[in-house]
Amino acid sequence: MADRMAFFTTPRAERTRRDARERLGDRQEVYRPGSLLPMVGGQAGRCMDCGLPFCHSACPLGNLVPEWNRLVAESGTAGEPDAGADWQAAAARLLATNNFPEFTGRLCPAPCESACVLAIDGAAVTIKNVELAIADRAWEAGWDGPRPPERADGRRVAVIGSGPAGLAAAQQLTRAGHATTVYERADRAGGLLRYGIPPFRLEKHRLERRLDQLRAEGAAFRTGVWVGRDVPGEELRAGYDAVVVAVGATACRDLPVPGQDLSGVHQAMEYLTWANRVDEGDCPASPLSAEGRHVVIVGGGDTAADCLGTALRQRAASVTQLDINPRPPQRRASGQPWPVHPKVYRETTSHEESCAAEAGPRVFEAATVGFEPGPDGRLAAVRFAEAEPVDRSPRAGTERSLPAQLALLALGFTGPEPDRRLFAQLGLATGPEGTLARDDGFATATEGVFVAGDAGRGQSLIVWAIAEGRAVAAVVDRYLRGWTELPAPIRASARALTV
Ligand SMILES: Cc1cc2nc3c(=O)[nH]c(=O)nc-3n(C[C@H](O)[C@H](O)[C@H](O)COP(=O)(O)OP(=O)(O)OC[C@H]3O[C@@H](n4cnc5c(N)ncnc54)[C@H](O)[C@@H]3O)c2cc1C
Ligand code: SF4
Repeated sequence: MADRMAFFTTPRAERTRRDARERLGDRQEVYRPGSLLPMVGGQAGRCMDCGLPFCHSACPLGNLVPEWNRLVAESGTAGEPDAGADWQAAAARLLATNNFPEFTGRLCPAPCESACVLAIDGAAVTIKNVELAIADRAWEAGWDGPRPPERADGRRVAVIGSGPAGLAAAQQLTRAGHATTVYERADRAGGLLRYGIPPFRLEKHRLERRLDQLRAEGAAFRTGVWVGRDVPGEELRAGYDAVVVAVGATACRDLPVPGQDLSGVHQAMEYLTWANRVDEGDCPASPLSAEGRHVVIVGGGDTAADCLGTALRQRAASVTQLDINPRPPQRRASGQPWPVHPKVYRETTSHEESCAAEAGPRVFEAATVGFEPGPDGRLAAVRFAEAEPVDRSPRAGTERSLPAQLALLALGFTGPEPDRRLFAQLGLATGPEGTLARDDGFATATEGVFVAGDAGRGQSLIVWAIAEGRAVAAVVDRYLRGWTELPAPIRASARALTV
C-alpha cells in the first residue's frame, strides 16, 4: 500500500540529466537513459489525489493526472519495480486524453505542475516525469499500437499542416472512420516538432514511430505539397467533405534596427531548420553553422534556448544571449498567485550547458540597437544598450558592442504566415490578433473549412495544439455525421488561466 503521507515524507525528485559536457558532444536527448523508472513510483506516490485536482483543470487536454499517479504509485518500491502498480491501466487513462504523451512528457512546460495543490507552498508532484514514464512504457509494451477504425465511413477530410495540431486532428478523424489525408508543404511531416525543436530535446525517431502509427491506422500523408501553390484550396474543398487548416503561426517577428539585413543576421527558425536538416542527413553541414563563430542570440524564450543548445553543439567560439526583459524572480511573485503558470527564472538544459562550457553570458534588460558590418560587408558586431524599465527603449550612454559573426533573431512570432493565395482560395480571414478567424467551434466563414492549432490561437504550446486537434476533430465529426463520440477538451476561445 502506498504511503499516504508521501507528499510530506518524500522530497520531489526529477530524472537526472547526462553531464552537460558529455551532452555537448552529441545531439541525443539530454536525460540519462533509465533514470526515470526507478523513481517514478515514489514520486507518483506524493500525489494527494485531491478532491479538486487543479493539475487536471490546468491542462488543456484535461489529463487524468491523479488517476495515473495512483495507478503507478506503488511501482519501484522495495526493489520490486512493478509491485502493486497497474501500468497498463495507467497507460489507458493517459492515452484517453492525449494522443502524443511522449511529446508533452518531454517538451511541455507543465502548467499542471504550476497548478498542483502541493505547489501552493512546496514542491509540485513531478507530473511530467510520471506522464513520460507511462508513455514510454506503453510504447515498449505495445499498449499504444495502431487503432484502425472498425468501419470506414466513406467521408473524406483534408488536413493542411502536420504539426501536433494537424496530427492529433488526423489521428482522431482516422480512428473515427473518416478517410483523412494530411497535406504538408515540407518534405517531412511533423511541423515544429520536426524542423523547430532540436533532437537533444526530442529525438526524431519518436516522431517517426507516431507517423508510422498514423499510417497504419489509415491516415494518408502528402508531403512536399504546398496547399495554395501546388494544390489549390478550391481543389481540396471540391474533393473533400471537410478541410482542417492547421498551418501553424510561424511568421517571425522582425528587429527593425540598422544592419538587420546584413549577411550573418538570421531568423532563429532558419538556423534551427538547417541544423535539424543536418541531423536528418540532408546535408553534411549547416550553411549557417555557428562553428568557430562568435554568436549573439537576440531573444529569451524557448526558441532562443534551442538556438543556444544548437550553437554550443556546433562548437561556437562564444554565445551571448540578449534578453530585453528583466531577469524574472527566482520564485513565484505575489502578482502571479497559484494556480497560474508563473513567470519565474528558468534555467533550461541549454543554459546549463552554456555555463559548463563557459560559452558566454545571458544578459537581461538588453536592448539590441543595431548590427555592424566588418570590412567584408558581413556582420562583425552587435550593438546593444541597457533597456529602460518602462518602455524598454535603449538608455542613452549605455551602448556597447559585442563581436559577432552570427546573430540569431528569436523574437517570437506574429501569427500565421500571410499566405494570400491560400487565404483567398479557402476564404480565410485574419482577426485583430493576426491569427486566422474562426468561431468558438473552430469553423471559418467558409462552409466545411475549420482552423486549429497555432494558426487560430497564435504561437502557443504543444499541449494546446494537441487539444485543438482533438477538439476540431470532434467538431468535424459532428459536422459530417450529425453526431460524435469524440472528446472535445476545449473551445476555440479557451485560454490558460492568467491574472
Ligand atoms: C523553436 C521552438 C521550440 C518550441 N519548443 C516548445 C516546447 O518545448 N514545448 C512546447 O509546448 N511548445 C514549444 N514550441 C511551440 C510548439 O512547437 C507549437 O506551439 C506547435 O508546434 C504548434 O503546432 P501546430 O500544429 O499548430 O503548428 P506547427 O507545428 O507550426 O505546424 C504547422 C505545419 O503546417 C505546415 N504548413 C503551413 N502552411 C502550409 C500549406 N499552405 N500547405 C501545407 N502545409 C503547410 C508547416 O510546414 C508546418 O509543418 C516551440 C516552438 C518553436 C518555434
Ligand atoms: S493537484 Fe497535485 S497533489 Fe493534487 S491530484 Fe493533482 S498532482 Fe496530485
